[in-house]
Amino acid sequence: MNYNLLEEEWIPVFYRDGQFGRLGAMKALEQAKEIRCIAPASPLDLFAAHRFLLALLYWKADAAGGVRQVRESLRNGKIPSELINGIKDEAHCFDLFDDKSPFLQDTDVRNEKKLKSVGSLFAELASGTNIAHFHHGDDKKMRLCLPCVTLGMLRVVPWSQQGGSGLSPSVHGAPPFMAMAKGDNLAITLGLNLVPLVGEASEAKWSRHFKPDESNKPIPYLEALTWNPRRIYLTPPQKGICWYCGQRNVPTVGQIVYLKNENTKLNEEKGKKVRFQWQDPCAFYWKDEAIRTAKSTEEDQAMYNKDLAQLLGKHGTKKEQKPPESFLYEKNKEHEGWYLVTPCTKQAKTFDHRRIELTNFSSETIRSLLPVDRLVKKQKALDGWKEPKLKQGQGIGHFVEAAVMLFTCADWATLSNAAFRQMHESPAGFDILSGLYWGLRGKNIKGLPSPNVAWLMLKLMAAVCANARILRSNAKFNPLMSIPKRQLSAGGKASLYPVSFPRGFRLEAAMRAGLVSNMRKRNPESIDWIGLCDRLDQLID
Ligand SMILES: [Zn+2]
Repeated sequence: MNYNLLEEEWIPVFYRDGQFGRLGAMKALEQAKEIRCIAPASPLDLFAAHRFLLALLYWKADAAGGVRQVRESLRNGKIPSELINGIKDEAHCFDLFDDKSPFLQDTDVRNEKKLKSVGSLFAELASGTNIAHFHHGDDKKMRLCLPCVTLGMLRVVPWSQQGGSGLSPSVHGAPPFMAMAKGDNLAITLGLNLVPLVGEASEAKWSRHFKPDESNKPIPYLEALTWNPRRIYLTPPQKGICWYCGQRNVPTVGQIVYLKNENTKLNEEKGKKVRFQWQDPCAFYWKDEAIRTAKSTEEDQAMYNKDLAQLLGKHGTKKEQKPPESFLYEKNKEHEGWYLVTPCTKQAKTFDHRRIELTNFSSETIRSLLPVDRLVKKQKALDGWKEPKLKQGQGIGHFVEAAVMLFTCADWATLSNAAFRQMHESPAGFDILSGLYWGLRGKNIKGLPSPNVAWLMLKLMAAVCANARILRSNAKFNPLMSIPKRQLSAGGKASLYPVSFPRGFRLEAAMRAGLVSNMRKRNPESIDWIGLCDRLDQLID
């Protein structure tokens, strides 16, 4: 069996004319001008595929006058033929199943008895100690087709995470934010990202047990671009179904040898771990500290882009820090059109990966991506109206939280269909309401909203996208605030009930309009669902 990355069709691409196709690495380089972009589904694969092509270009750039000249040619849509031929001459380095030097694998461990799931190559597939998943399938049975295995293998260099039992991360540490310039076609994209790197080049290490030459000195860039923190050996393929892309009856790889690499562990100096002397051109590094990247590690921040605030630096704390910088961005500052690949990971846990498209990394651009947590000023007696004080009853909170946690997408879809209907007009919706409501009553939870308010709340919550239903502690938006209300005030005592307050479907319409106008904003505010339920409960019934 042979599977050579230069020839086999594993790179998904979109052509400039809108057609979709799959290509091997050589065709992708040769036709780079005709290709709009490389288009794998995962942001990590997007980055890893470009990184592999760039590593090939750095490796053979000298054959075509050096990195600077190749960069210029590519930006003009041309790829030097000397470079293409230089890579083709060493095609044997890129076969996944080559007997002597299989690509990124170590033949010394081919007889290892303890095999691991092929899913170990993908942080988002549940396997082994990668614990942040709800579903753990049968690791042993997992199989991946060869294009998917290729993507997984290419992730090993830039995206290895620290893992259980001594698995060391990539040369630049835990997965950081990575910038990638985006051009009008693949040639320009590669040209923009092919920046002249400082320091020595040394040798690319495409195969065998990876050992750095001198890990306590500055790492040469070809060594860094082929840095392999694992010792992997793929078992021979058999026909099967791919668990990642779903292709059937194709050659697939099952369990693999997947071991730690002792040679890529951090060095220690006086009992302290020392980072490798290498700065990835795409990663963002803090300026005032030695070789430390900006990264996203908190799931609750990543959930709504709050982790991006790091790219603005740190202000207002004891330790002021300038914004972290990426070498690639500094070298292409005038360029507009970027990807920010943002994995959110903590040691062995993977939370999510995002690909954010942005014009540049100016502070204005970053700020526009952050969630808005504007303080809504307390409304003072609009038309004589005073907002009722929140009861902060536990029942209301329980009710809203339980709905968010327990309902499925199908439940929300049913409730969405119940818009402007009463309970008895939507039996399916009524079942969902009563399942939750009587369940909570049965648990003796006090202070629940009235059934009418509960019904209205569920219909309103169903009207927004799932992301806007998440309960956030700093949520302030309440559509009730936008309705004008007037209040009777007789003898100095204000009545709780507003005079001209819409009821029934008019209230539902007003609330929906408020929610919709919020969701249409560029940065919608977080919705205070519990506050809304509390106030509605005081105002109606
Ligand atoms: Zn596949």
